[in-house]
Amino acid sequence: MITYEKQDIEDTISIEQLWALGYFSPCESDGMPTVSFGSVVKSKKDCREAVAKYQEQYKTELIIDGELGPVTKEHLDSRKCWVPDRIVQAESQSAWPRNCMRSITCSQRLHRLRPLEDKDIDNAWLEALTSISKVSGLNLIFEEDHEESDIFADVGNLSNGTLAWSYLANGSCTTRLEQKYNRSKTWSKELLLEVIVHELLHACGLGHTSGTNSIMHPTVTGRFTEPQAWEIKQMLDRYGPSKDTPSDTPNERKVGNLTIDGKQYDIIDPSSSNGMWDFV
Ligand SMILES: [Zn+2]
Repeated sequence: MITYEKQDIEDTISIEQLWALGYFSPCESDGMPTVSFGSVVKSKKDCREAVAKYQEQYKTELIIDGELGPVTKEHLDSRKCWVPDRIVQAESQSAWPRNCMRSITCSQRLHRLRPLEDKDIDNAWLEALTSISKVSGLNLIFEEDHEESDIFADVGNLSNGTLAWSYLANGSCTTRLEQKYNRSKTWSKELLLEVIVHELLHACGLGHTSGTNSIMHPTVTGRFTEPQAWEIKQMLDRYGPSKDTPSDTPNERKVGNLTIDGKQYDIIDPSSSNGMWDFV
């Protein structure tokens, strides 16, 4: 447990939430969902700084005053994913390596999320894999075998407002990443799809963003069900562009070819593809 300078902080649960979300510095989180706490004494000053950092993250909704008032406390309890907002991990390590990024396998055992039917859950999982795979060179592939998949999702009883959590990619092709979705929540198809996309993007290596036009905002907004501009840029930075570019469509018209360094490329008429001359 964290202990506090007594009488200063009564709001133990809120402070522990801030700790789990990585708001204390130096942050001792390693990017994994933290549910236990170190035996560290935190002063009132430390706590105020942590509260202020949290308010800064949500500055469009909260006043930044370092006070753990009712609005901030209620906000901490709102529906969110339980991956730390502040992740101490080198950006370059928080990704799948190039040599395995084309075939990251993903399995799920989410059939106990009520009141959804199995087929709705299966569809949400497949839709999320597809929408993430199309934005960059990383490919998420459906996998039946729960013991073999790179990313495996299951249900569990999670505390507070937590909807789900995921481990983050860590630069290794062999580490299997676990995800948990809260079975004690009431789910809708749209909510599940949003949360699956959010958690899978964590498993791709992405952290949270304070930008509200983003599916990686730590609280569920109900506005997005696929990666937005911020996420697409993060994915492209890590994995490069998707191989399935629009020029691969069957409608494209080849108007010639050219040879560069002994390799032959087709020249595609821009009016038949994505508006730019392509060499494929
Ligand atoms: Zn999250």
